[in-house]
Amino acid sequence: MVNEKRRASEFKIIAEVFAPLAAAMEGAYGLADDAAVLTLEPGRQMVVTTDTIVAGVHFTADATPEEVAARLLAVNLSDLAAMGAEPLAYTLSAALDDRVDDDWLGRFARRLAAEQETYGLGLVGGDTVATPGPLTLTVAAFGTVAEGRALLRSSARPGDRIYVSGTIGDGALGLRALGGGLAGLDADHRAALIDRYRRPRPRVALGQGLVGLAQGCVDISDGLAADLGHMAAASGTAAVVEAARVPLSPAGRAAVDADGDLMRVVLGGGDDYELLFTASVGAGEAIEALSRRLDLTLSAIGHMSKEGPASAAGSVTILDSKGVAIHLKEKGYQHS
Ligand code: ADP
Ligand code: MG
Repeated sequence: MVNEKRRASEFKIIAEVFAPLAAAMEGAYGLADDAAVLTLEPGRQMVVTTDTIVAGVHFTADATPEEVAARLLAVNLSDLAAMGAEPLAYTLSAALDDRVDDDWLGRFARRLAAEQETYGLGLVGGDTVATPGPLTLTVAAFGTVAEGRALLRSSARPGDRIYVSGTIGDGALGLRALGGGLAGLDADHRAALIDRYRRPRPRVALGQGLVGLAQGCVDISDGLAADLGHMAAASGTAAVVEAARVPLSPAGRAAVDADGDLMRVVLGGGDDYELLFTASVGAGEAIEALSRRLDLTLSAIGHMSKEGPASAAGSVTILDSKGVAIHLKEKGYQHS
């Protein structure tokens, strides 16, 4: 239970640790009222998402409070990004276990403050309780988007190109490296992959830039193949991806060059928090311009097609460099 010597009362935590994070949010009333009031500009809609992270499940016991804070906001901001929303506010429900003391909370809050600054949102409420464990943190994030313009999974159309931002597979390869895998890889490459896993960077500016340009959009949290499957199913289309076009980081490339089987991890693994979206062929130049403006690689990796006898709605076909379909089965990566 709560050790009062190491951790202030819940009332004090709210007033001293969390209220400063709400200082710039007018409708949060300094976290001193019963609830917050959010004002929307005319013509904007509210986009709402929530994600919970649990110690031992979504982050490791040795994760620093800074890492936990960054991940907690990032997983939520990535969902806002995938809808094309501009971040506005968030709530934080914290079930704190014994290991969380004042020092931990101070470091956690300082990182939240830095992330708020980066992504332009503020704390507006939450709940603080003690738990025997594990440490469990829930954020609900609120963003806004022009009315009717949110980027939906269901809006991909046959003939659309499929794009991904950044590089794919680093998060999943980083998790492997953290678990002692990829032993043959250079220290620099290992460190780069582990950093990508530990520090997801939500593509918030990209999401907003895609409003009016992209058709379907989803963030890659479960893995490229799975999340593309979700979008294809929601939009009643089939997806075709050319594996050779899937962008790899230098570290990801080195890992796959050393062990070709790791391509299965790249295509099937999660935790990238890149955006996966579709756009009509006619939007190609505007997407290139957006890529230059954001200094972010946007790679066309395939296309959406009509569902047909060989490709049911929601199916994802991944072709190797010879045009042969690769099947991502639970057991692994095999050719048909
Ligand atoms: P109640 O008993 O009415 O739920 P609380 O004492 O839980 O009141 O919360 C008081 C205020 O502090 C509320 O505005 C609530 O949103 C805010 N609050 C509590 N915990 C947090 C937290 N972890 N982060 C942000 N705001 C919080
Ligand atoms: Mg409460």
